[in-house]
Amino acid sequence: MSFHQFGLSPDLLRAVERQAYTVPTPVQRETIPLVLAGRDVLAGAQTGTGKTAAFVLPILQRLHTTRGVGHPDGRRPIRVLVLAPTRELALQVEESVRVYGADRPIRSTAIYGGVGFDQQVRRLRQGPDVVVATPGRLLDHVGQRTIDLSRIEVLVLDEADRMLDMGFIRDIRRILALLPVERQTLLFSATFSNEIRALASDFLRDPAQVQVARRNTAAELVRQVVFPVDRERKRELLSRLIRSGRIEQALVFTRTKHGANRLAEQLGRDGIRATAIHGNKSQGQRVKALEDFKRGRADILVATDIAARGLDIDALPHVVNFELPMVAEDYVHRIGRTGRAGSDGDAISLVCVDERPLLAAIERLLGHPVATEVIDGFEPDPRVRPEPIRRRSDQRPMQHANAGRPNQAGRTGNGARAGVPGRPDAAWRPGPAGRSYGHRPSGPFRAGAPDHRQRTAPARVSRP
Ligand code: AMP
Repeated sequence: MSFHQFGLSPDLLRAVERQAYTVPTPVQRETIPLVLAGRDVLAGAQTGTGKTAAFVLPILQRLHTTRGVGHPDGRRPIRVLVLAPTRELALQVEESVRVYGADRPIRSTAIYGGVGFDQQVRRLRQGPDVVVATPGRLLDHVGQRTIDLSRIEVLVLDEADRMLDMGFIRDIRRILALLPVERQTLLFSATFSNEIRALASDFLRDPAQVQVARRNTAAELVRQVVFPVDRERKRELLSRLIRSGRIEQALVFTRTKHGANRLAEQLGRDGIRATAIHGNKSQGQRVKALEDFKRGRADILVATDIAARGLDIDALPHVVNFELPMVAEDYVHRIGRTGRAGSDGDAISLVCVDERPLLAAIERLLGHPVATEVIDGFEPDPRVRPEPIRRRSDQRPMQHANAGRPNQAGRTGNGARAGVPGRPDAAWRPGPAGRSYGHRPSGPFRAGAPDHRQRTAPARVSRP
């Protein structure tokens, strides 16, 4: 199938050609005709599937073929609203609008917090056709009456699950109440919780459903390996892997903002070009960090899950989990950053004894164990006992993983009860044979080693 079959206008096809896209991705194949037909769409698709073009292209086409309802006073109305969870995603979606709409007189702007309000007001006064916004700042503009949402024809909720995770549900409902009832609504979400379904049934009209391959199917194409290492020696191991060339350009994940900063600084002291990106940084700092990384001025970009969500970085050779995420699904999101579009990718996890329950939950979600490789000189000390994971140094111990929280397969990821079928849940095993990595299980990570989980303090669940 080619893009020509959608009946898109020549200028949009030229834009697609300039991007060198030859065939539509699955989510584009399914979604574009539905949007062109004016349907509401509920789409299960994650970042990396090409979902942005799947809604931007047909929306631009529709803006072209239908005429917006102008204001009585002649002002140009905002015709399309895209809600996105983070400013990075908002910026990227807006950039896509500009890229695909380059050959037509479409005006767009991104509205997000953490930057000056007045400049956004000026841009809104210029009469954008498309506004891409994070919910909080959008409501600030509503409150100040600097935006008029009464002429919206198309609403897109992008990464709806993440918006809900970030606590935006009330903001989203408030925004929805301000929009015309007669509109087209597209909802994109990686997962479908009951909350997402409730949102869809309240605000979408007879939606067509689109589901493309889950990221954890794609994730199987990524070479995954776990390097067991002592808690205190992770940074040293990471530096070694970078200096030896085993890791080239990599997106490195930490659990906390503080951890991201500290790691970037420590790597810098090791002579490695590293930069950090997270929610506490100013917008300017975040954009610069991303630019430095994309242009190869930094080899390592250290990020937290929320900051990395939606970042558009192509063909990343390596993703490194400096710390495993507390929620197994985030691992799948993280490693989905590599191995895109058929390119090879490695996902490397540095795992200390404290994180074994997290790894077990990830393996349950993947449905298979992850290969393990012990690096010479970094064999874990068998005397080290697991400690509860803390989110911040000033915080009470953090509980692990998905206990009690339904995962994608609808199971409860609750510790030992839900093991990978056919394998004992208790021991740290070497990964499957036949991978490109050698397996030298040793120390406390040896097959059959006692399960430290039993000794880890049980705790209640919350999300980082
Ligand atoms: P998204 O899921 O929208 O974040 O897109 C992920 C990446 O896929 C972006 O870098 C897009 O430029 C790229 N992309 C989108 N559509 C296609 C396509 N049809 N062929 C190749 N790459 C694409």
